[in-house]
Amino acid sequence: MNKKSILDAKFTGKRVVVRVDFNVAFDEGKIKDDTRIRETIPTLKYLLKENASLILLSHLGRPKGIDPKYSLKPVAKRLEQYLKQKVEFINQFNKKELVKLKNLLPGQVVMLENVRFHEGEEKNDLKYAKLLASFGEVFVNDAFAAAHRAHSSTVGITKYLPAYAGLLLIKEINIISKVLGNPDKPVVSVIGGAKISDKIGLIKKQLDLSQTVLVGGGIANTFLKAMGKNIGLSLVENEAVDFARELLYAAASKHSALILPFDFVTVDVRGKISPVAITEMKENMSIRDLGPKSRKLYKEYLLTAGTIIFNGPMGKYEEKPFDQATKDLITATARSKALSVIGGGDTLACIPNDKIAAEITHISTGGGAMLEFIEKGTLPAIEVLQNA
Ligand code: ADP
Ligand code: MG
Repeated sequence: MNKKSILDAKFTGKRVVVRVDFNVAFDEGKIKDDTRIRETIPTLKYLLKENASLILLSHLGRPKGIDPKYSLKPVAKRLEQYLKQKVEFINQFNKKELVKLKNLLPGQVVMLENVRFHEGEEKNDLKYAKLLASFGEVFVNDAFAAAHRAHSSTVGITKYLPAYAGLLLIKEINIISKVLGNPDKPVVSVIGGAKISDKIGLIKKQLDLSQTVLVGGGIANTFLKAMGKNIGLSLVENEAVDFARELLYAAASKHSALILPFDFVTVDVRGKISPVAITEMKENMSIRDLGPKSRKLYKEYLLTAGTIIFNGPMGKYEEKPFDQATKDLITATARSKALSVIGGGDTLACIPNDKIAAEITHISTGGGAMLEFIEKGTLPAIEVLQNA
């Protein structure tokens, strides 16, 4: 993909509107994981070194109108710690405050309130886009995780300002493009999570791209049901059973193997946890995680892979010990010599520790964005950036 990045332009003395994705997870009012903030620091520091002033735009959650619960104020505070400088927080709906933006001095940083507090944002309303554009002279998009959304602050705004890719956006594009372009074989995809319907495009694409697709989580249950297996009380997506059957046929006609688990960690109606083979599944049992034998097989595939694409937990990881298989497979992914890309909000929550994280080639900041980029090879907010 040939898009101009911030390295291709001059920003000296410019007021730069930067779209970041600071949609971080909160836990009882506290920021739980600030990876997305940390990952944009190189772009922000680069622009500041170039003597630009920065006007930061982001969304947070899915507010319906103005809702203090989704205020970006605590995020601006956290950013101050990383930038080691003042980040002024501005309520973008206060005309008096907005005047300040015109008089920013080089090196100053302001963060605006949640762009989704305005109903125009998600409709890609051009009037709202024009307002956002009026805050600066140049636009930089570093919000990979929001790049699959055609919204005012990601797409509309580029009608009014010259638009460049930030360093995080470029990093995500380059590494995922490499996986799509000429990956080292065998390509092994791991796909898990709750629902097939969230990931239809991805699963199809992975069958084209990979030699082996390892399936787990609720998604595997739906495939097993499509094959007529007894899955007891397990999470299943009944509406997707027919589609799962079609995918099984599709896989059989391509040169990729779709591998399903054959033993599980289950819990029965009395709460008894036990590992069982697929042939021993009872009506009163529910699949919660991959069993030891499936796990061992999946690990062997990962350890001999050339490229690994990992999305979706293998079990109901929020409840221990059902996080074991996912953690185990992520660890195998890190140990493997393969180029590895992993993404998805829930998946990243399963990375056991920083040491293992450091051994993974690329941890994507995008969940939905990563999946759509793998599927389509581009995203709406990338398309509208200046061509190189
Ligand atoms: P990601 O955010 O990484 O893309 P998803 O959102 O698709 O992942 O899926 C995560 C959800 O899938 C988690 O809430 C997890 O509990 C659920 N899940 C996975 N396997 C099972 C299972 N066997 N039973 C119930 N829930 C499951
Ligand atoms: Mg999720």
